[in-house]
Amino acid sequence: MSNVKGKVVLITGASSGIGEAAARLLAQHGAHVVLGARRTDRLEKLASILIAEGGSAAYQALDVTKREQMEAFIQLALDRFGRVDVILNNAGIMPLSPLESLKVDEWDRMIDVNIRGVLHGIAAGLPVMKKQGFGQFINIASIGAYAVSPTAAVYCATKYAVRAISEGLRQEVSGDIRVTQVSPGVTESELADSISDNAARQVMKEYRRISIPASAIANAILFAIEQPPEVDVNEIIVRPTASI
Ligand code: NDP
Repeated sequence: MSNVKGKVVLITGASSGIGEAAARLLAQHGAHVVLGARRTDRLEKLASILIAEGGSAAYQALDVTKREQMEAFIQLALDRFGRVDVILNNAGIMPLSPLESLKVDEWDRMIDVNIRGVLHGIAAGLPVMKKQGFGQFINIASIGAYAVSPTAAVYCATKYAVRAISEGLRQEVSGDIRVTQVSPGVTESELADSISDNAARQVMKEYRRISIPASAIANAILFAIEQPPEVDVNEIIVRPTASI
């Protein structure tokens, strides 16, 4: 009997890349997936495919930078499926640039989506999980949570923050609630589309040639969810074998 079947898994940033791949894999394993992102046309299409394949899915417009939208997203899961087993805090952006370019608006956006978004997921989900007496947060960080590279100072700072928040949360809630941080290396997705700096975009294009499929990260997420309740997988790094 799969430990995933029947679980209610909320996924932020489910409209593409890793979030979409996780939704597909978890639905195939019998989870009720609750999909959130801003591009609802994509979510609608994905949910209808998953349902047509025999899965269970719901979706709602979600901007993770808006705390009230995250609360409404959790409420959707409770209304539709009655519980929250897993919150996959996956939504993220990566507009890389050198600090001296002073793309301050992009720094702010990264902080809002990559850090505040995760905190909003925790703020909305933690009281529900505490009341239930169970739950699991899976926060998507990055190999950029372990080392900094040029043009990625702010992006890496947000991912170091996700790592710190995940570890702090684990220390405070272990016993009832599991906390997993998954850190991908370069993975096929739309993440690099947000880069407005031409030089950084070109470097990333080269670097991304070795990308692994988003399904590789989905497999790591599935692994963390399917462990028995007393087993808390805290940290997973998944890189391309060809990683530099
Ligand atoms: P994608 O760009 O393909 O997916 C990002 C997702 O985040 C989209 O579904 C997007 O949906 C969503 N998103 C962006 N802003 C918001 C917002 N304000 N509110 C809600 N959703 C939002 O990239 P990935 O799949 O690669 O990214 C997923 C996570 O993986 C990110 O946290 C990223 O940092 C991390 N990561 C990715 C790596 C890679 O190489 N791909 C490597 C390391 C980490 P929409 O635009 O519809 O809102």
